[in-house]
Amino acid sequence: MNKTLLEEAYDPESFRKIGHTLVDTLADYLTDMKGEPSQPVTQWQSPEQSLHFWQNEQKYEGNKNIQPFFEQVLARSIHIHHKHYMGHQVVPPAPLAALSGLLTGFLNNGMAVYEMGSVSTALEKIVIDMLNHTIGFSKEAGGLLTSGGTMANLTALLAARSAKAPHDVWENGNKAQLAIIVSEEAHYCVERAVRIMGWGAAGIIKIPVTDQFRMRTDLLNNYLKDATREGKKVIAVVGSACSTSTGTYDDLTQIAAFCQQHNLWFHVDGAHGGAAAFSQKYKHLVAGLSEADSVVIDFHKMLLTPALVTGLLFRNENHSYGTFAQKAQYLWESTEDKEWFNLAKRTLECTKLMMSVKVYSLLKAYGPQLFDDYVTRQYDLAATFASLIRERKSFELALAPSSNIVCFRYTIPGLTGNELNKLNARIRKSILEKGDFYIVQTQLSETVFLRVTLMNPFTTAHELNALLDHVEEIAATA
Ligand SMILES: *Cc1c(COP(=O)(O)O)cnc(C)c1O
Repeated sequence: MNKTLLEEAYDPESFRKIGHTLVDTLADYLTDMKGEPSQPVTQWQSPEQSLHFWQNEQKYEGNKNIQPFFEQVLARSIHIHHKHYMGHQVVPPAPLAALSGLLTGFLNNGMAVYEMGSVSTALEKIVIDMLNHTIGFSKEAGGLLTSGGTMANLTALLAARSAKAPHDVWENGNKAQLAIIVSEEAHYCVERAVRIMGWGAAGIIKIPVTDQFRMRTDLLNNYLKDATREGKKVIAVVGSACSTSTGTYDDLTQIAAFCQQHNLWFHVDGAHGGAAAFSQKYKHLVAGLSEADSVVIDFHKMLLTPALVTGLLFRNENHSYGTFAQKAQYLWESTEDKEWFNLAKRTLECTKLMMSVKVYSLLKAYGPQLFDDYVTRQYDLAATFASLIRERKSFELALAPSSNIVCFRYTIPGLTGNELNKLNARIRKSILEKGDFYIVQTQLSETVFLRVTLMNPFTTAHELNALLDHVEEIAATA
């Protein structure tokens, strides 16, 4: 008798077979990537080429033929696990955390209320408590896991608004020009959050940075005075730990003192570099973090977990309950009660991934030392790369790196700034199209720089020297 389509889709034996084959394929892929990879890090295709390929591929053949499709996805994706992957801030996830993703994707507990995720809710509290302990928060602290740093920063600023705005915006809308202060180098999602909250361009006050791209904290006082004179009500300062373009850490201790003095909320966007708190060697970079009111740390950047998993931490847990002061009676028996276990009370998400299981599996198997080993290694590697760059006359560093993000450029004596910008942009485009390495570019003030983020735990000085050779070769013909 023929199975129905639904019976086929839920057939345990075919799941077993497809799953075993897929895991074998991924293990072979990992072996390849850790050795001398048999394929380049990326095979550039224009968006139209890629769409055309998949449109031609598209036909329904039943699940028995799915493995070739999986292999195509693997072959045609950018290879984050490749030792020449040095681009955006996405980690090659530890395989165990990816396997937990299979488990949790399969179970699909919805999380919004406790009974829809009793395991992942308890594990979430354990993961958050561990993170709070690591950054030096006390027992009063609390927090949540949420889908990405962008959402976490918005959520933190909503909590800040609830705590510090002079009126109830949630009930009555914006009645005054609220504003926050950030550095010019803050991630664009902070400005987006402000505009989403309806404060407009006036709601984001950007402070210039030093030549090392740090917030000019010496200017905080004047900027606050000016804003107040203009009738704005500043409620928060956001520090970057670290900034995205250059990987620079703001002086959190200074910002904390300023916020305390002026009764402002202190938020730290540590999406990328908050993870330094795990590193015995580099935790000094986040000195002052424990004085923040709220902190964001992405697990999918520097903590080896597949996207998306972000920790959103509050120094005083009570504040997290004010974020969405909204009634949703059908979900919660009492909206007044502070129920740590009904997580959707405090997140933008309703249904949420069982993300805590991925993080917890790494803690269970390796302990937090794994995070220390990874962060320390990658930050050390950036210092090594900086010294390799300094050794070559044709290269220039934008600044000494303080994280695993390095900005540098190729230079030729006698060329104007504009000509060098064009040259470096051509070099980056050529690298992308050749596919032997993957790096990105950034513009700092008026200058175009090549930018790497050293995310791969198997990249060494050998590959970094090869990258510099590659740039030199391209520059000779560009
Ligand atoms: C990556 C990043 C973000 C955005 O986080 P997502 O998880 O990508 O949404 C915010 N701030 C900083 C400093 C970042 O590096």
